Amino acid sequence: MIVILRPEASQEAIDRLMAQIRGQGVEIHYSRGAQETILGLIGDTTHLDEDQLRASGVVADVRRVSEPYKLVNRRFHPQDTRVMAGGRAIGAGAFAVIAGPCSVESEAQLLEVARAVKRSGATCLRGGAFKPRTSPYSFQGLENEGLDLLREARRITGLPIVTEIMSEAQLDDFADVDIIQVGARNMQNFRLLRALGHSRKPVLLKRGLSATIEELLMSAEYILAGGNDRVILCERGIRTFETMIRNNLDISAVPIIKQRSHLPVIVDPSHAAGIAWMVEPLSRTAIAAGADGLMIEVHNDPLHALCDGAQSLTPAQFDNLMGDVRRRAAFEGRSLS
Ligand code: PEP
Ligand code: MN
Repeated sequence: MIVILRPEASQEAIDRLMAQIRGQGVEIHYSRGAQETILGLIGDTTHLDEDQLRASGVVADVRRVSEPYKLVNRRFHPQDTRVMAGGRAIGAGAFAVIAGPCSVESEAQLLEVARAVKRSGATCLRGGAFKPRTSPYSFQGLENEGLDLLREARRITGLPIVTEIMSEAQLDDFADVDIIQVGARNMQNFRLLRALGHSRKPVLLKRGLSATIEELLMSAEYILAGGNDRVILCERGIRTFETMIRNNLDISAVPIIKQRSHLPVIVDPSHAAGIAWMVEPLSRTAIAAGADGLMIEVHNDPLHALCDGAQSLTPAQFDNLMGDVRRRAAFEGRSLS
């Protein structure tokens, strides 16, 4: 980190600032030029508060030369992380396909979809039991009954289950969920992230609707800082000025995150597209960009789905897509596990 001081700063104020910085365990390289005085901060600066430095009154500008995240940073962990969940691997060459309905609606619906996606080669089953809906009048999910149905579907198909948590108060109820999903709307629920950091459970962290890539990585850092490195990141589209699609799949996020971080990254083309026919082209793009997996919504009767029917594939469409996904993933050096 580089701190540029105000030309009019008094030596006394500069000394005070330097003592404060050193007090936080950071070394300083002091450089006084004809135009500017600059402090080069050496060591781990991740815990330094830029705004606090600026508030000292003697600082003209602060520039970070290294990223504010440490544990998720590839710089300190060059090899890809592989997350194991329910006996399946994700990342470091292992490609995941997490498929299932947006929400668990009934035993018949879930079991039909679960059996179908298993037959087609999905590696995990998804299904929301607790749904974060924009309207309080929309279907909110079957809640604990939905969790029980997911357990039943796991017992029958052998697929690990992925489902969304809404609050840290639910952690006990989610103790046997294979991958706990943090939805886009909760990406910056920091208490939840901290609790998941202490839980040691595999976490699927989705990017917020308007979150930058750095904010997503900082949210993952919360979980790793608690001692849990079983984190999978998910690009699911962001909000832009475009109105013809539900969200804009930020495909550049995949190579950028893979360059910056060792954590696996998957893509959710369903929530990005908002419309079923676009799931296939976006899935192809995701694999080509280097994604470690896909999360795809599948419904046995999309027309009557209680949530996100328009973007849901039928089991037959999903089966078709899977042949292509398997070939393309293999071509890119990844295999379904
Ligand atoms: C979901 O995957 O069910 C979901 C609600 O997605 P997101 O949080 O990305 O909107
Ligand atoms: Mn959905």
